[in-house]
Amino acid sequence: MRPSEATRIYFDRAADQLDLSESIRRLLLTAKREVQVHIPVELDSGELATYIGYRVQHNDARGPMKGGLRYHPKVDLDEVRGLAALMTWKTAVVDLPYGGAKGGIAIDPSKLSNRELERVTRCFVDAIHELIGPHVDIPAPDMGTTAEVMAWIMHQYDKYHGFSPACVTGKPVDYHGLPGRDEATGRGVGAITLKLLSRLGRRIPGTRVAIQGFGNVGTHTARFLRDAECRIVAVSDAGGGFFRQDGLDVNALLKHAQNQGGRLDGFAGGDSISNAELLALDCDLLIPAALGGVLSRENAGAVRAQIIIEAANAPIEPDADSIFDDRGITVVPDILVNAGGVTASYFEWVQNLQQYQWGLNRVRQELDRVLGEAFEQVWQLAASRKVSLRTAAYMLGVGRVARATVLSGVA
Ligand code: NAD
Repeated sequence: MRPSEATRIYFDRAADQLDLSESIRRLLLTAKREVQVHIPVELDSGELATYIGYRVQHNDARGPMKGGLRYHPKVDLDEVRGLAALMTWKTAVVDLPYGGAKGGIAIDPSKLSNRELERVTRCFVDAIHELIGPHVDIPAPDMGTTAEVMAWIMHQYDKYHGFSPACVTGKPVDYHGLPGRDEATGRGVGAITLKLLSRLGRRIPGTRVAIQGFGNVGTHTARFLRDAECRIVAVSDAGGGFFRQDGLDVNALLKHAQNQGGRLDGFAGGDSISNAELLALDCDLLIPAALGGVLSRENAGAVRAQIIIEAANAPIEPDADSIFDDRGITVVPDILVNAGGVTASYFEWVQNLQQYQWGLNRVRQELDRVLGEAFEQVWQLAASRKVSLRTAAYMLGVGRVARATVLSGVA
């Protein structure tokens, strides 16, 4: 199932709970603007290549639209449309004064030189610069894009509109970026996990954690939870994983991965396990932090963890979600769990608008506060309405957007 279909199922459940009218549902589900542009660029070989770029601006009822820019060969309008809507609900769950958007270019960045990527990015900005901006729509990194790409976007945008660092977030720290932006998603995953354990009355030290994915989100989550005295018993990446009952040495794992381009293979401090084994491991917390759709109807019955923290986007298929619900497994949804990245992006935007540099401590403190408050609101709503944390999170996000829409006088 495509993530956009899953998002739609969860939206409908929340809309039913909120008793939203058909006309409001239709308005909330319809993107404000969808743009497709061609991107003709000269390759290093002198050949002409033409790529297709998209930007979908879903909803701006609560503020300027915010969302990443993805470079991947499979990017298409439908995918971008679904992800843009997800951003609208995600920014609303954590109560940021933003709407939602998403963009992408159908391209394989690993097959282009850095100079070619820069030309593609600048050409894309040439095509959409009138449609984005600090008070309209603010792109950020996503799959296949980096802080360097964000720096090119700002520089190209500035050529048309003058100095505007707030036109894009996720920039390098030395080029108007925010300290702590890199760790923010993983830190947020960790902070929300600790809140949940406290709410469930569980002891934090010694909690056994298995993490799938050892990239940006997985590594920072592992570090944060290790510092909170959890036991990271297993981690994996695309090539498989490692297990150690007493807890893996996270520093050794990080060093090992750093020395071989981020990959874990060959690590000597644990027993090899497959990704399928990691998902079915006897542990307290399972944190899928790699791909979407890894927990489906086929393997949901094998999961032994009592808590699943959705650090990746849409790692659980809706069928599996129902199975976990029936089995009494607590699932904390992606829309809340991985909102640390967009929250830090918001701080970067505020910093750029105010021209006042934030320090790392302030970023961490504010991040923990925003995510902690959002978690409490979702928790309370789930308890009072007797719904899952996922339905409560969608109710909170969709409800806020619906109220802003009505208050603006549109409906
Ligand atoms: P990343 O590219 O840095 O890391 C991905 C990790 O997953 C790598 O270790 C990779 O080897 C592993 N992986 C890939 N295929 C796998 C497979 N088949 N089985 C097991 N592991 C596999 O990506 P990231 O930035 O850490 O993002 C991870 C997830 O979190 C994605 O779903 C992403 O959409 C989501 N997310 C990321 C952010 C962010 O700020 N980085 C924000 C919100 C959501």
